[in-house]
Amino acid sequence: MCFGPLRRLCHWGPYITLFLVFYITGMAILCDLFYWPPHTGSIFSIVHFGVLSSWIFFILYNYFHAVFYGPGFVPLGWKPEKPEDEKYLQYCHVCKGYKAPRSHHCKYCKRCVMKMDHHCPWINTCCGHRNHAHFTYFLIFAPLGCFHGAVVISLTIYTEIFKQLYSPKQYRKPSNTPLGLEYGLPQLLMSFIAVGLALGVALAVSFLFFTQIRSILKNESGIENWIVAKAQYRHRNLEEEFVYPYNLGRKRNLQQVFTWQGQPQGDGITWPVIDGCTQYTLTMEQIMQKQLKKERMIEYIATEDYEGSWFPISKGCRTCICIPLTDESRIEIDEGDIIMVSRWKKYWLYGEVIQDDDEDPAPRIRGWFPRQCAKQNTGQVDSDGESKKVN
Ligand SMILES: [Zn+2]
Ligand SMILES: [Zn+2]
Repeated sequence: MCFGPLRRLCHWGPYITLFLVFYITGMAILCDLFYWPPHTGSIFSIVHFGVLSSWIFFILYNYFHAVFYGPGFVPLGWKPEKPEDEKYLQYCHVCKGYKAPRSHHCKYCKRCVMKMDHHCPWINTCCGHRNHAHFTYFLIFAPLGCFHGAVVISLTIYTEIFKQLYSPKQYRKPSNTPLGLEYGLPQLLMSFIAVGLALGVALAVSFLFFTQIRSILKNESGIENWIVAKAQYRHRNLEEEFVYPYNLGRKRNLQQVFTWQGQPQGDGITWPVIDGCTQYTLTMEQIMQKQLKKERMIEYIATEDYEGSWFPISKGCRTCICIPLTDESRIEIDEGDIIMVSRWKKYWLYGEVIQDDDEDPAPRIRGWFPRQCAKQNTGQVDSDGESKKVN
């Protein structure tokens, strides 16, 4: 038995997701049993209970499949079949292999992920090649279940408040309360909370669903969308126009993700491309963009130590208040370190520490550090840093 996927559930993301699913659906089932219990034999009650329960089944079925299948990882140390193709691919120093087309290294999963879309904390793994369909089904069923639950609970609240409080003479307790259940003040408060949570989840997850289905229809992950946007606006000298290679048309794009077998088409390494493109059309564009980014970098030298704290109080209040609003790493730097900076904020800089060149280079150290800890190096640009392999 592989415990790896099971361990993914031991994280705040799945804890919160499963709590919300069980809390909202639990309250909906409770309200349903209270006012429309299926054991009365009414066809409406039986069908209604069946539909409500089936949402729970489909939500959990797809959620656990998205977690346990995972996105699919590029094998460690992977390289293309033909050695001459290596120059078209980026190298991952953590996985000690080449990044297959459409894959990206995820710092949370600590692996290169096949057709990476994004790392999702709610499933505590990436959304990628293998779990894309189940992840999307989860995004369909969760809002449907939440919305249905919200309606059932709201009707119960309405009945309780307006009939019990405003028309006490007309109020009649339901005669078939199951399992001796009572609906008192605590249940009423819990119902209000459940409706708020259900509507909030339905709204947020519906938005995610629409972004995801748009990405599937274009066969363009969130990361690829970013690369394409940069490709369209970057200056080209004699190069040809960039053509995104994976958009095969809506029908084929959908078929690539959603299959009757529940498994996506393809091995996650080689991809069908449109005429005029190759397996490496996108990876070559990525390499070109990285090179241009490197050329824009400015060399800084660390003048103070910084231990990587998110709120470095010793570096001043403004540095602590104006932190970069991103979950990107904060890097530890020592006085004298050379850092190639690629992004600038008023109190923070983002860059990569230049490490000693070895035969087997260490994983790259990239992230934010306080601006006051370094100053621009006015000396010569370190040619080693420039000549390093693009990653
Ligand atoms: Zn990797
Ligand atoms: Zn990940």
